[in-house]
Amino acid sequence: MYKNYKQQFQGELKEIKDGGMWKDVGVLEGKQGSEILIKNDKIDMTDKNGGQKLLNFCANNYLGLASSEELAKAAKEGVDKYGFGEASVRFIVGTSTIHKDLEKEISKFFGTEDAITYTSCFDANTGLFETILKEGDAIFSDELNHASIIDGIRLCKAERFRFKNSDMSDLEDQLKEASLRPENPHPGPLPKGEGVAYKPRRMLIATDGVFSMDGITAKVSEICDLAEKYGALVMVDDSHASGVLGKTGRGSVEGLMDRVDILTSTFGKALGGAGGGFTAGRKEIIDVLHQRSRTTLFSNSLPPMIANAALFVLQNYDKKFNHNREQLIENTNYFRSAMEKLGFHLGGDGKHPITPVMLMDEKIAVEMAGKLFKEGVYVRGFTYPVVPKGKARIRVQISAAHTNEHMDKTVRAFEQVGKEMAIIK
Ligand SMILES: *Cc1c(COP(=O)(O)O)cnc(C)c1O
Repeated sequence: MYKNYKQQFQGELKEIKDGGMWKDVGVLEGKQGSEILIKNDKIDMTDKNGGQKLLNFCANNYLGLASSEELAKAAKEGVDKYGFGEASVRFIVGTSTIHKDLEKEISKFFGTEDAITYTSCFDANTGLFETILKEGDAIFSDELNHASIIDGIRLCKAERFRFKNSDMSDLEDQLKEASLRPENPHPGPLPKGEGVAYKPRRMLIATDGVFSMDGITAKVSEICDLAEKYGALVMVDDSHASGVLGKTGRGSVEGLMDRVDILTSTFGKALGGAGGGFTAGRKEIIDVLHQRSRTTLFSNSLPPMIANAALFVLQNYDKKFNHNREQLIENTNYFRSAMEKLGFHLGGDGKHPITPVMLMDEKIAVEMAGKLFKEGVYVRGFTYPVVPKGKARIRVQISAAHTNEHMDKTVRAFEQVGKEMAIIK
């Protein structure tokens, strides 16, 4: 029967191409790092001088751990100690001591009561909402939340409220509206006082800790204020912030974990680079996830080698990898100030290494990224629908592994191409 469908699929593929949304995937040869060797069937990936290596400003390798020898060693030790894998889901015979150790360490690191690991943060998020929210409950989601939060919410039957990005008055309006609905037997703001008996619909506010296209930090503290006022739970996905933000690298939730009920994050960005995710927070919620979350009940446990490397990162963060975070801040400031001096308009709040170079025009963003790449700098243009129409940009991601030379070369390339394209004077 496939012959009947073949043309349909071909048509879809053509639509993607014609719409300018085709992804020509480059293939890394060797390790991820600040200098990479990348090959592409369709595009010549050598720079204009025939150079093979490109400076990489695209990865979420914030602390530079993706090619760390120490992490590779910890992963190898994990294989030696625990074998290649569990060949099982957690609740049958897939929970190893390394999972327990890692979960304890996650709780200790972030200051939560408990934690549960998943094979990715995507799984943590898709396994969260339908497990703890049912019909009649309400979920409030920032409009710029990550795809995995959006998909997770799609799986649950709670009523959906979407608030404008980091817009606290919009969020409050919607919390008010939800509290006044008949599903809520005790409408209006929460009565004051300890242990007041109330039984509103269960309400949960969900936000990214850092919005990845803009490099802007969520207003977690203000969200918690509203949550307290209206009796809602708070969930923060700190995938871009864990290990990156906060004086001690605990993320956008640093100092707020007594008020944030649920934290999800990844070991695939700053805290490693291979993969793995987790949900941490209130003990009862984590217990419910162990019992009912479908992405843990019906999916293999986190490979022990990754769990062992993740444990190594958390155990050594304060004495070792927090220095990488300090270097990362220095690098971010260095790059931003050089780019601003040249007259580029940068997005972001300057606290996060995601540095969007705002170009607005879709064609200019794509053309500029192509020219930069010929100068030996690997960056990508982001256009609609990944970012709003007319807000095209090149997203530069800084890493602790970048040297001043790397950044100088990149700034020079931006200067040259920017002048050539009359973006700066
Ligand atoms: C990257 C990211 C994820 C996905 O993490 P994985 O562990 O790679 O699945 C989820 N949420 C946010 C906000 C992210 O940035």
